[in-house]
Amino acid sequence: MEAKLFFQETTVVVFVLGGPGSGKGTQCPKIVEHFGFTHLCAGDLLQAEIESESENGTMIHNFKKEGKIVPSEITVKLLQQAMQQSDNKRFIIDGFPRNEENRAAFENIVKIKPEFVLFFDCPEEELTRRILNRNQGRVDDNIETIGKRLKVYFESTLPVINYYNSKGKVQKIDAQRSVDEVFEDVKSVFAKFKPVARVDSTK
Ligand code: ADP
Repeated sequence: MEAKLFFQETTVVVFVLGGPGSGKGTQCPKIVEHFGFTHLCAGDLLQAEIESESENGTMIHNFKKEGKIVPSEITVKLLQQAMQQSDNKRFIIDGFPRNEENRAAFENIVKIKPEFVLFFDCPEEELTRRILNRNQGRVDDNIETIGKRLKVYFESTLPVINYYNSKGKVQKIDAQRSVDEVFEDVKSVFAKFKPVARVDSTK
């Protein structure tokens, strides 16, 4: 008899939100490793589209350069495609929804409500400091664009977090602490998704 990992059959979506530099990209791979989720990063999907040099890519590039939010339909379709192509049914979606329009488009097109929203709460000064340190050649990691991205975050993404908070769906994490301390809190939020090793009696 062989021990196998079984996951739930229904699709589980967790949105991971927080300002630029709050640690989403740092924590998500750890969630993947510990809890068997597939990580979809809206920003990476958009970046891949830019690099493909498609017509969509040029448009996305221009939106990003301005620190603006890419039209919902484009991002939602890229996410939906990635979900359909995956064998997994558990997804953490990082950096999405960026605004109310994104949120409504996902609910209307994909028709799945998030299990919860993981919110990395971090003060603005710390976000700026981290982004400037990160500066690894991203077109949007420079002092001019950071201001615009932070403004978009506070004006457009915080309302999404407030919306989910009013539905009791936000799991807020203090993201100003060390990577390991933050992950300790993340682990307790995801505890119920711990993959369970069971004996497969059909073998
Ligand atoms: P996001 O994906 O939310 O934009 P990242 O995970 O890319 O943020 O983190 C932004 C920068 O801050 C990276 O250089 C990362 O190494 C660093 N960082 C992430 N989490 C922490 C933390 N808890 N403490 C200090 N630096 C961090």
